[in-house]
Amino acid sequence: MKKILFIKTSAIVKYLVNNPPLGLLYISGTLSNEYFEKRILNMLTPGITVERVKKEIKSYSPDIIAFSSMSYEFDTLIELSAFAKENLDNVLIISGGNLPSMSPKLVMENSEVDIAVIGEGERIFPAPFTDPWSGERYMHILTSRGCPYNCVYCSKPFGRKVRTHSVKRVLKEIDVLYREFSVREFVVIDDIFNIDEKRALDICEGIIALPYSIKLSFPNGLRADLMSRKLVDRLKAAGTYYIAYSIESINPKIIRFIKKELDIEKAEEIIKYTSDSGILTGTYFMFGFPGESRSDIFKNIRYATHSYADLIGFHIATPLPGTEFFNYGISEGYFDKNEYFDSLNRSASFEDGRFRISLLSERELKKILKQAYFMAYSNPARILRLLKKMPKKDIIRKAVNLVRLLIG
Ligand code: SF4
Repeated sequence: MKKILFIKTSAIVKYLVNNPPLGLLYISGTLSNEYFEKRILNMLTPGITVERVKKEIKSYSPDIIAFSSMSYEFDTLIELSAFAKENLDNVLIISGGNLPSMSPKLVMENSEVDIAVIGEGERIFPAPFTDPWSGERYMHILTSRGCPYNCVYCSKPFGRKVRTHSVKRVLKEIDVLYREFSVREFVVIDDIFNIDEKRALDICEGIIALPYSIKLSFPNGLRADLMSRKLVDRLKAAGTYYIAYSIESINPKIIRFIKKELDIEKAEEIIKYTSDSGILTGTYFMFGFPGESRSDIFKNIRYATHSYADLIGFHIATPLPGTEFFNYGISEGYFDKNEYFDSLNRSASFEDGRFRISLLSERELKKILKQAYFMAYSNPARILRLLKKMPKKDIIRKAVNLVRLLIG
């Protein structure tokens, strides 16, 4: 029997995040227990450090290590793959995730990885995940993949062609996960779940008809200007407690530049409707685009803070490899490709601002980011709404993250 160690790398140690390594869980679920002994290490779990992972690599002594890595986690991948090769005989190292998909040559030439997996490494039934913070069982599910839009900051890992699971298949998956794995919450992470409204409504009706109730959340995957009030109502009836819509900018110049083609008026109306319906409603905004002045940025931030959204996330526009943004940043001389890849771990998040496409400095952008969060969450009405709508298990985590961001 071959031993496989799956490792979800993480360079982000600043925040309390708990995203399960969905790709690795899918792959792990496909491998027969008859032939493989499997172990998964999720470095996004608080307390799992590089040193702890090294100890695990040595003591578990796997035949195969399968990494899932994002572009900003490259240094971690280099360090751990080198450690594994030095300490284990004949270990095979495989790497998937967005980094090898976008830059397979870079991965093969600069790390000890033997096989770089390009594109989707998983295709079948998933395994459930237990939240290390709350002990609750939940599962990320994909009911469709692909997106026909062309946002310049998105690497579109699943491509432009939309592929959907049938309504029957989605309901079956939910039912098996509920009955056999005690999963009670389903986190939908499609690119655009509501690209086909009829299918989305049919899934809701199927869930509503189940003899038990579940919880649903949409941290992404619902495009605001494609939403209808009817779909919000049916999602709520199906158990949805959280929806996040990505807006990014209300500045027409920026909307054109990012090619998001979002109808802001429609989005604004549906955000209010979603929030009024009692669903915890989040939005995302981005700033630091070429030609965007300080006053443009604050106009966007003021709009965000006055919106009906309960949760607001701000990001500094950061060009990630594999995006049109990235090529733009290089061709316009904002940064150098080699310098970027040499510094991946230090540009570890959207809050970093180091590799930007803005004429504002990294310092200025970071300062604005803090001001934006302060403005958004110093609103007592928003805090009251959050306390009312947010699950208790998330309140402490979100509050700690916010304080860290503001004082960090
Ligand atoms: S950001 Fe969303 S809407 Fe835009 S291309 Fe990516 S998946 Fe599609």
